[in-house]
Amino acid sequence: DSPKASEASSAAPLGDQSARASIARVYDAALGGTDNFEIDRQVLEQVRKVAPEVNDLAWSNRRFLGRAVRFLTDQGGIRQFLDCGSGLPTADNTHQIARRIAPATRVVYVDNDPAVVAQSEALLADDELCHVVDADIFQPARVLGNETIRSHLDFSQPLALLQVGTLHHYAGDDGAELMRQYIDALPVGGFVVIAHFFDPQTDELSPLARRMEQVFLHSPMRSGVFRTRAQITGFLPGLDIVPPGPDRQGELELCDLWWPDGPRLRPLNQVQRCIAAAVGRKA
Ligand code: SAM
Repeated sequence: DSPKASEASSAAPLGDQSARASIARVYDAALGGTDNFEIDRQVLEQVRKVAPEVNDLAWSNRRFLGRAVRFLTDQGGIRQFLDCGSGLPTADNTHQIARRIAPATRVVYVDNDPAVVAQSEALLADDELCHVVDADIFQPARVLGNETIRSHLDFSQPLALLQVGTLHHYAGDDGAELMRQYIDALPVGGFVVIAHFFDPQTDELSPLARRMEQVFLHSPMRSGVFRTRAQITGFLPGLDIVPPGPDRQGELELCDLWWPDGPRLRPLNQVQRCIAAAVGRKA
């Protein structure tokens, strides 16, 4: 028997997934994955009509996630991650990135998409240090009270909470309060990582952000809010934002410009300017 048989039994039955678009599968399609259906690809095609480089939005987000996890494991000394809205397992998942640096890193993945939960359970079945929880990440009290999370992560030790590519799927205007509940539960020295659809509020780019938002909101996916610098920074109440580059103050930065892996030889396109990120530290 799998050591995780009891956790696996909590997953909802998969049923016919091909009838409704899923955030996780639309994202998978944008990353060039194969875990998606026609209805998911149609959402992407709709967005592509107003933003031809939409796949770059997904890649900018995903590459940022990789660099942030590497930074937190290496420089931040983090050995525990709570990865909220983790998505379908892909090539470089949080535990795989972290373990190249610290093999004993613990990760709990949280998602409410049945396919994500099922595939993550399959991937992690024999992994004692990694778990997946089926929960609504926009209900922090439930996530923080979850038995699997409480038993596998030690909230008295440094821990990083990831909300990468997730909070733009929360339509409410009380996101800062939601995040405060997570932040209150973190120990001093804990980190929060966010990446979010960004409205740069320039004459040139704001209309593009608004057009993408309209397509996302009216698509079968029904979510995807582009927020301003102040709104996104507001999701890290009370945290010190880590400088996003050399000789920089801590502030929100475009995903692609957050400690890039090397010099940029090609200019960012307009879509890449519509996703931003920050890493906050609890002092
Ligand atoms: N974090 C991953 C990354 O950045 O590569 C995946 C991001 S994907 C765009 C967003 C994920 O959040 C999807 O897997 C979706 O199912 C999940 N999600 C959206 N709303 C959620 C909710 N209320 N509770 C749990 N997961 C949610």
